[in-house]
Amino acid sequence: MNVNLINEKFQEKFGSQGELFTSPGRVNLIGEHTDYNGGFVFPGAIDKGMVAEIKLNGTDKVRAYSVDLEDYAEFGLNEEDAPEASWARYIFGVCREIQKRGGKIAGFDTAFSGDVPLGAGMSSSAALESTFANALNELFSLGIDRFELARIGQSTEHNYCGVKCGIMDQFASIFGKAGHLMRLDCRSMEFEYFPFDPEKHGYKVVLLDSVVKHELVGSPYNDRRASCERVAAVLGQEFLRGATMEQLDTVKDKISEEDYKRARYVIGEEQRVLDVCEALKRDDYETVGKRMYETHWGMSRDYEVSCEELDFLATVAQECGVTGSRIMGGGFGGCTINLVKAELYDSFIATAKSRFAEKYGHEPKVYAVVISDGARRL
Ligand code: ADP
Ligand code: MG
Repeated sequence: MNVNLINEKFQEKFGSQGELFTSPGRVNLIGEHTDYNGGFVFPGAIDKGMVAEIKLNGTDKVRAYSVDLEDYAEFGLNEEDAPEASWARYIFGVCREIQKRGGKIAGFDTAFSGDVPLGAGMSSSAALESTFANALNELFSLGIDRFELARIGQSTEHNYCGVKCGIMDQFASIFGKAGHLMRLDCRSMEFEYFPFDPEKHGYKVVLLDSVVKHELVGSPYNDRRASCERVAAVLGQEFLRGATMEQLDTVKDKISEEDYKRARYVIGEEQRVLDVCEALKRDDYETVGKRMYETHWGMSRDYEVSCEELDFLATVAQECGVTGSRIMGGGFGGCTINLVKAELYDSFIATAKSRFAEKYGHEPKVYAVVISDGARRL
């Protein structure tokens, strides 16, 4: 991250110096399509994030400069002051959501820049929201607890950016801890840290971005949710969470074959998250990797949210002897997340690049990540 450039731009735009705050993007090791089923997700913050220099300016206006987009915005703090630029709406939204919760804030100047690739599945938007939620909480001594800071980011997406997201991204960006992943229970909102330090055990984590996003007919996300809700209802439960394969089999003839497959994936995924957490307690990264592949093929064959390019990347990983590989995120494009032995890393990346390019005409983008700390002052 180029902090010098941020300093320079801040000085140039505002003629002074502010304080620095940062928040990261995130990965999710396992636990996909589990949130709306009341299940677990298992994210960690990464060594890519947003850095903002901020200084109170004694007015009721925010003056913001995006170093990366080379764009400037100025806006007030009332509802009708919403800026046009989409990047500025994230900052405005955070301010508004703080005010809605009774937080007294005033104008500030900021210049910010990030190295989370936009729209690649690492949640650059959560990094942006969390940076400002955490910074304003500190600068105005608001005393907002950290979970509420995550909710402020989530509400910003809902109310100012038109994205009806869950809480995982903002939660991970706020609570991240180097060398640890967080298992978040999406039913109770309780969470627990588990050690995850692949470098220490001879592994690396790398994302391969297929750079494809398939336009889909209909609404596959809503269809999957509806399947899960139907099966949960037949089982007499609010959520699929907590159901067993045995229970599912007892209602097999009361549900469609498609709903059965969807539920089989979700129930399996809950168990895989728990297995991975247990494996990590004994530094058993091989089991972690096996479960990642099971998730991939479950998402592909049972949940049917993969695509040709992602199946290809997972297959190449398997053939290269990579420990674990799977789709990260909702599916139909985006990245795979790979757990790979350090000594295999270079040859895997070279092979994946050349074989993917040969078949699809472009190389996947490669992002090595290290699990890192969450929102903080620099
Ligand atoms: P992601 O999956 O990375 O969160 P989103 O579409 O949710 O993708 O958020 C991307 C948006 O967040 C961008 O369009 C922009 O408005 C904002 N954003 C992210 N990173 C930056 C940045 N470095 N500078 C300015 N705006 C950013
Ligand atoms: Mg986002």
